[in-house]
Amino acid sequence: MKTLRTIAGVRAHVAAAREAGRSIALVPTMGAFHGGHEALMRAAREQCDEVIVSLFVNPAQFEAAADLDGYPRAEDADAAIAAELGVDALFAPAVEEIYPAGFATTVRVAGLAEVLEGTTRGARHFDGVCTVVCKLFCIVAPDVAFFGQKDAQQVVVVRRMVRDLALPVALQVVPTVRAADGLALSSRNARLDAAERGRAVALARGLEAVRAAVEGGERDVQAVVSAGRAAMTAAGVQPEYLAVVNPETLDVIDEIDGRVLVVVAAQVGPARLIDNVLIDTRQVATHA
Ligand code: AMP
Repeated sequence: MKTLRTIAGVRAHVAAAREAGRSIALVPTMGAFHGGHEALMRAAREQCDEVIVSLFVNPAQFEAAADLDGYPRAEDADAAIAAELGVDALFAPAVEEIYPAGFATTVRVAGLAEVLEGTTRGARHFDGVCTVVCKLFCIVAPDVAFFGQKDAQQVVVVRRMVRDLALPVALQVVPTVRAADGLALSSRNARLDAAERGRAVALARGLEAVRAAVEGGERDVQAVVSAGRAAMTAAGVQPEYLAVVNPETLDVIDEIDGRVLVVVAAQVGPARLIDNVLIDTRQVATHA
């Protein structure tokens, strides 16, 4: 596996792969790889000829300097994992390569960037995500880019950006990878001590309670959200938000019908955690 540091290096690598008729996958990441990242890399390895993983802790999407400084970094271990999974190239640029002096462009998906995570983190969070993802798409020009369902709003925002700007890339969304007790894997979990790690499962418990209520025939959003909140509180965590939204527009809905996205965020000790589940009432087994 090659490690590439420059845009020119990536362009030369991709040009050679294209010349050889190879399809290109891009897996954008911020590193500190865990099973979630590995699932994305495996999916990319299966579907495309040339797999490029970007590793860039993007300052533009952090609202607090402490969160950026404290973000786990482990490039050597990450490179070993990527090589083991058959990744062809790791693109690990310096900040100045992506944001040279005078960088002045922002990509904003208005509306979608301001709700849910945008309420707490500010719309600038998704501006940072979209700007860097758009730039990575321009640098790599992949056929397919792989994202995790774990960051559901990110998927919705990036999908809209791709549609609005007619970016020539297909998006592939990989299901959330969880620990045995249900906690969604996240680089932020490394910040939890044993007691916090125990309580962190509350997010998954809340989502399970919502699903159970829907499977029990409940269609009123307030009622299912109450069930989810109660399960989280019982597990020792107060949700920052627990909401049922339209999976394309992220609009809050009142009545559950068809496909809905249930999203949750909570602070657990030093880590702000998010999780979500997609529910389709046409597919749930109803036990009512
Ligand atoms: P990050 O390095 O946290 O920016 O994540 C890079 C990619 O991995 C994003 O598309 C995430 O949605 C995805 N990802 C992170 N955690 C998981 C997980 N537990 N399951 C599936 N995908 C994940």
